Amino acid sequence: MAVIDSKRLRNVVLLSHSGAGKTMVSEAMLFASKAISRAGKTDDGSTTSDYDPEETKRLTSVQTSVLPCTWKDHKLNVLDTPGYADYRGEVVSGLRVADAAVIVVSAAAGVEVGTEQVWKLAAERGLPRIIFVNKMDRENTSFQQVMASIQDRFGRSCVAVQFPEGTQASFKGAVDLLGQTYPDEAEAAREQLTEAIAETDDALVGKYLEGQALTQEELHKGLKKGTANGTITPVVFGSALHGVGAEALMDLIVELFPSPADVPAAERADGGTKLECKSSGPLAALVFKTSADPFVGKLSYFRVYSGTLTSDSHLWNASRNEAERIGQAFFIRGKSQESVPAVIAGDIGAVAKLQTVQTGDTLAMKDTPVVLPGLTFPQPVFEMAVAPKTKADLDKMTSALARIAEEDPSLRVDRNPDTLEIVMHGLGDTHLAVAVEKMKRKFGVDLDLRTPRVPYKETVRGSARVEYKHKKQTGGHGQYGHVWLEIEPLERGAGFEFVQKVVGGSVPKEYIPSVEKGVTKALGDGVVAGYPVVDVRATLVDGSFHPVDSSGVSFEIAASHAFSKGIRDASPTLLEPILLASIVAPDSSTGDIMGGLNGKRGRILGMTQEGEGYTRIEAEVPHAEMLRYATELRSLTGGRGSFTAKFHHMEPVPEHLMTKIVEERQQQAAAAAG
Ligand code: GDP
Repeated sequence: MAVIDSKRLRNVVLLSHSGAGKTMVSEAMLFASKAISRAGKTDDGSTTSDYDPEETKRLTSVQTSVLPCTWKDHKLNVLDTPGYADYRGEVVSGLRVADAAVIVVSAAAGVEVGTEQVWKLAAERGLPRIIFVNKMDRENTSFQQVMASIQDRFGRSCVAVQFPEGTQASFKGAVDLLGQTYPDEAEAAREQLTEAIAETDDALVGKYLEGQALTQEELHKGLKKGTANGTITPVVFGSALHGVGAEALMDLIVELFPSPADVPAAERADGGTKLECKSSGPLAALVFKTSADPFVGKLSYFRVYSGTLTSDSHLWNASRNEAERIGQAFFIRGKSQESVPAVIAGDIGAVAKLQTVQTGDTLAMKDTPVVLPGLTFPQPVFEMAVAPKTKADLDKMTSALARIAEEDPSLRVDRNPDTLEIVMHGLGDTHLAVAVEKMKRKFGVDLDLRTPRVPYKETVRGSARVEYKHKKQTGGHGQYGHVWLEIEPLERGAGFEFVQKVVGGSVPKEYIPSVEKGVTKALGDGVVAGYPVVDVRATLVDGSFHPVDSSGVSFEIAASHAFSKGIRDASPTLLEPILLASIVAPDSSTGDIMGGLNGKRGRILGMTQEGEGYTRIEAEVPHAEMLRYATELRSLTGGRGSFTAKFHHMEPVPEHLMTKIVEERQQQAAAAAG
């Protein structure tokens, strides 16, 4: 692919509800532009975009692919994104570097939940849009029906610029409504289009209202202007499966969508002088996606906003102030790579094996270290514990998890210090299942996923005064440690306090740290179910020692026993974590959501109107009840709801649930002991 000037580039993101046909549309574009010689199908896993085994198995995209193709002397970088909600992070990447969006709508399904969501995302980014109505070959589809669905949801700024020829099985293509000839039945559609175009310009409105015909030039100019500023969203029709509509779509992308040189100059993170899209300017390239490739290693995808990124050069990771050596730059198309000497302003490329760069970082030159705003990824809302299948898997697990988390910023991995589990946090169950499959394929690590344990804690409700004497006489040197402890509850969230109040040296000073150590050790292992003990004060009040046999260890042992005994005498109980959940869902599902939360021992704190038919519900809900909530909310709201939840406070577990938790813990302990 020859290097061309920034004006001839188009960076376009394909967005839709899952299954509307983005991958097939991108395949049809590649085929029509002769970037590939044979059009693959999602259904047999043969498309250029969905080449990962996780995608061919599910027959759906799980990541954003960059698919360059050449159309009429222009280079189109088509970014095919996954539609499934678990991959919203990938959509964020695609949206960030696109200058315009093609929203694919299935003629059979009309506007769906996912269509609304991606529409909103594209609108928030101010991206010019075209709607591609796909699957026009399907039964029970019609122009009127799908236009009604689109205009009902997104308004009358969405206007057809084509009219379909033939319907359903006989669908052949679509005629251009701006052309001179169109069928009579398209008259109303043509009228709507002309009116929408006239409204883009005061002079045109006047002419239109006076009943004068707009010239061909006025119509095209007006359509371009309206598309660019978002007052018009052209709607086109096709059938990607039969390769119909891709050429006209690419014509419109070239004609109506802005090039990187036409969009406003790129903002800088520090608000400094904006960066013009000029290949001679200071280098600023944003890394918007990282993929862990088992062969080439880490692959970083970037878009150049200013300057030229040259292969084999010394650059600067301006986001981290570190030098970065660049090897060969590529243009990537699915799984094929084309080496290029340089990537110019506005274009998208990739490089392998960067050392310091992560998704969101800016590559620049050391003497012009400009930083572009990074990317904001969706926060994880779903968690699962992972465990290695074998010892060999255990050894490789840490590095595999680190690499997969680097590739996917909406995935987080941490170790829960209370349950000692390695927990993966993501956007849904499929997200995590795919991550596990990827780790197996890419790094040969086999992991099991399971519901994570709830990090319960233990505490006391009452006080106790206890003593413990550790005394052993085993010939020669004996052991002697003797303590009196007072145990009292502290307020919630206070943690642990050790106080010493011995008088008269009944426990010599040098042994007091050992007493504290003994108590601290026992804290980790409560008496109810072995969970850590919190919100308690242990006061050392008395004890005794032996001039020869006493030692630090003896006092440590005595203190540990005394503490456990004291906890047992002070009315111990379990505490559970309570999360603060914030749920946003359509007004119509708030009843079901509240009902659901009540069934989860939740406490509703408030409800606020979010506008556009959405309500926010804030509630405190026990962590134990929220483990599958991402899945549950999705089904309650048909995918429209979203939520965040964070730890809020600990609360006593209701008496009737204690037995079950204790039994589960005992089973886990027995299983762990083998
Ligand atoms: P994506 O999830 O948006 O990428 O959708 P895909 O491109 O994977 O397509 C989803 C399903 O719709 C697959 O089974 C395709 O074969 C089918 N499909 C895509 N385009 C068409 C079309 O134009 N007509 C028909 N009848 N089916 C299509």
